[in-house]
Amino acid sequence: MKNKAVFLDRDGTIILDREYLADPAGVEILKGAASGIRALRQAGFMVMVTSNQSGVARGFFTEQDIWRVHERMQELLAAEGAELDGIYYCPHYPEGKVREYVRTCYCRKPGPDMLFTAAQERNIDLFESWAIGDKATDIEFGFKQGLRTILVLTGYGIKTQSQGFNSSLKPDLIVPDMEAAASKIIAAGDSHPGKRG
Ligand SMILES: [Mg+2]
Ligand SMILES: [Zn+2]
Repeated sequence: MKNKAVFLDRDGTIILDREYLADPAGVEILKGAASGIRALRQAGFMVMVTSNQSGVARGFFTEQDIWRVHERMQELLAAEGAELDGIYYCPHYPEGKVREYVRTCYCRKPGPDMLFTAAQERNIDLFESWAIGDKATDIEFGFKQGLRTILVLTGYGIKTQSQGFNSSLKPDLIVPDMEAAASKIIAAGDSHPGKRG
């Protein structure tokens, strides 16, 4: 049997969005994130992080900085009993400045590559999985590959909601935070609406 997973955005969904965070000291876990992650894993979901980190291509920080930030994030989550199953990020940006990272890629959300890579590496059924984030790109990212989607109202979520959605990219659910998202996912059980297959 294939695994089911929840793909979480990082900034504004798990940790405070500080805009191009390079310093691990700036990592602050949002309220409800650790308990939500814990609940999802207890319910049998893999919990993956999928994050656009164009600050690398823009020359604001390096991949090593990202790794240190992730180490700190995992340490703080672990202190609350929450573990992640994987972290994927895209360091690219088409109009960046750091030559080796300047490209139009398929991993920058809403591009699908982080989903495809994770699905392949961890034997995940994307149709049984969910994507959660605070921006329209997070919703589009999940929707396009057949995942169910949730907008959280942390980070840019309230702004995203106020800007409205183009009908096909409307999130399946809108909730206050990660803890509420986890409750909804668990309550939904295996009742996939089958709207895309
Ligand atoms: Mg975000
Ligand atoms: Zn990329």
